Amino acid sequence: MGDKRMDIYRSRVEKLWDKAREAGLEAFLVLSIEGSDFANLFYLTGFSGSFGLFLVDSDPLFMTDPRYSEQVRTELPYLPLKEVRGKWYEGLGEEIKRRDHTKVGLNSRTTTVKLLELLREKIPGVEFVPVDGWVEELRMVKDEGEIERIRAAMRLTEEGLSWVLKQLEPGVMERDVALELEMWYRKNGAEDVAFDLIVAFGEHSAMPHYRPHPGDRALKRGDVVLFDIGVRMGGYCSDLTRTFSYGDPPEEFRRVYELVWKANEEAIRKIKAGISGVEADGFARRVIEGGGYKEEFGHGLGHGVGIQVHEPPRLSFTSEDTLREGMVVTVEPGVYLPGRFGVRIEDLAVVRADGLEVLSRFPKNLEEIVL
Ligand code: ZN
Ligand code: ZN
Repeated sequence: MGDKRMDIYRSRVEKLWDKAREAGLEAFLVLSIEGSDFANLFYLTGFSGSFGLFLVDSDPLFMTDPRYSEQVRTELPYLPLKEVRGKWYEGLGEEIKRRDHTKVGLNSRTTTVKLLELLREKIPGVEFVPVDGWVEELRMVKDEGEIERIRAAMRLTEEGLSWVLKQLEPGVMERDVALELEMWYRKNGAEDVAFDLIVAFGEHSAMPHYRPHPGDRALKRGDVVLFDIGVRMGGYCSDLTRTFSYGDPPEEFRRVYELVWKANEEAIRKIKAGISGVEADGFARRVIEGGGYKEEFGHGLGHGVGIQVHEPPRLSFTSEDTLREGMVVTVEPGVYLPGRFGVRIEDLAVVRADGLEVLSRFPKNLEEIVL
């Protein structure tokens, strides 16, 4: 690992430690059991295994079991490592006691009640204090290195979409298309898909989070085709939705498509740093309401994307977030007509001081989306 990346991790850990200290805590414990806090641990250390305990104080210590010791020595050479076997809480307890900590913070979003009870029972005399989403808060604003990874993931996502469109022919099944696209991504450099790829034909496109099931639907002329897809590269995700018409679309599809596209563009034009999540959502929502489809846009406008495909901030009518420079967010208005079709157009963009820098380039104009 280059020194530069090490410095980045160090500075992230320092920010967390500052926050913990200011809150009167003596340490902060990042606890990932069976990957329970994978994303935060990866963000703070670069560790990509599923079991890790990271005790953050003035002298941070990484703990893992023998399955990952070698990986930690290679991936995190700058961090002191302690191996814990079997009853990991015993090793953790010893370390907390050795450091005389009596008040240790942990993440309320990823620590289960069961885990918290276990810690309180097995490590008596230490107060474990759940705090809400401190590392998630740090993760919201991306540095240029993170943005570069997301950009690369988006490039591959779009190349795959171009490829898969050429594979469409009457009779192909949704799940086969999804599987072939996933294989294409893996063969072409993706670590993984960012989520179960959504490929929805016809009336299935009206379900915002449709997942193809066995016995799913075959493609026919005149179908709406919706792809909601993304990959993971360098640990970071992409997220992209495009809606197509396979053959000549019905009149209402054209109308709805133009409306959703207009809402998408309106939001992209107006969002910038300083705008609240509620305001951002409103830019698109007003367009769709004005077009007469208020009830048919049932979800928020977008979400943050990073190590996880859905992470803070949220862009919605209930959001409490304010957009800041360096956040990476989706802009994805949709209109869904149950039993008939749905249209969603999702772009991914970086929030900059004066506007959005859109990372997705895939065409949206009607001529290009009629296949
Ligand atoms: Zn998506
Ligand atoms: Zn999304």
